[in-house]
Amino acid sequence: MTEALLEVHDLVKHFPVGGAMLARSATPVRAVDGVSFTIRRGETLGLVGESGCGKTTTGRCILQLERPTSGRILFEGLDLVTLGEEALRPVRRRVQVIFQDPYSSLNPRMTIGQILAEPLKVHGIVPDRQGRAARVRELLVQVGLLPQHAGRYPHQLSGGQRQRVGIARALAMEPALIVCDEPVSALDVSIQAQIINLLEDLQSRLGLTYLFIAHDLSVVRHISDRVAVMYLGRIVEIADRKTLYEAPVHPYTKALLSAVPIPDPRLEARRERTVLRGEVPSALKPPSGCVFHPRCPIAEARCAAEAPNLREIKSAHWGACHLA
Ligand code: SF4
Repeated sequence: MTEALLEVHDLVKHFPVGGAMLARSATPVRAVDGVSFTIRRGETLGLVGESGCGKTTTGRCILQLERPTSGRILFEGLDLVTLGEEALRPVRRRVQVIFQDPYSSLNPRMTIGQILAEPLKVHGIVPDRQGRAARVRELLVQVGLLPQHAGRYPHQLSGGQRQRVGIARALAMEPALIVCDEPVSALDVSIQAQIINLLEDLQSRLGLTYLFIAHDLSVVRHISDRVAVMYLGRIVEIADRKTLYEAPVHPYTKALLSAVPIPDPRLEARRERTVLRGEVPSALKPPSGCVFHPRCPIAEARCAAEAPNLREIKSAHWGACHLA
């Protein structure tokens, strides 16, 4: 088995509610509430759940854009939670992010060439100007753009091209791990496939490891080796891709999968949809017992009283449900 590049142990991130004056007494928002997983080198882990389930906060904790409330995040054996800003600097280079909306993170006054050259200069990756220009051209070609795009501004590119620039900017830092936070959600379906294919191609060429965050199980299916499903700050199921899609054990995973259209028209006609009751409850006051029980179609009395642990139901297939 390949070694673990990233290990997340019992990660908790609570946000205080209200201003600093109230923070001490207020009930916190339990955005991430005891999440554990491992990503092996060269692997893609899909992290899926509805908006507000804590998947983006999990990604931001790994990137150290948020400091966790508790838990451990081991990257290449180093616990990032214990590191100060100085010690984190080389790690920040090795762990990069691709955002959903690259437009908001690309400086509109800089050309694409300047945007890509900046980190090369700041981090001393390519100290000389000519070398940087050559590396920028190389990065552009690597992500399927043309060297001429270096002279354009972000607003002169399409959404898909801008996401390619976002990917090139992450690659400029020569990362080992990339947190892909909904990288295709803002794109047309036809462009989504191109970007996912590009990410896969780069992974096999450069040996990258991905945490791929999405709200939709159909998006992560193609790219993920394993998939973790999150609900209200917790992982409720995690398994390899085939097992998760073909034999899910958690009622929430089953409901999400029932919403995914099947390309075969005959199977699609027979697809039974499980429509969940109500909305995702507030992370400020999660339900008692199993946090999914108010929406679960098969909940029993004990589900409201007793929280199920995430346990290994079959080999390497984990689920958090009393009835699984
Ligand atoms: Fe549903 Fe109970 Fe399983 Fe929770 S523990 S998912 S409420 S059956």
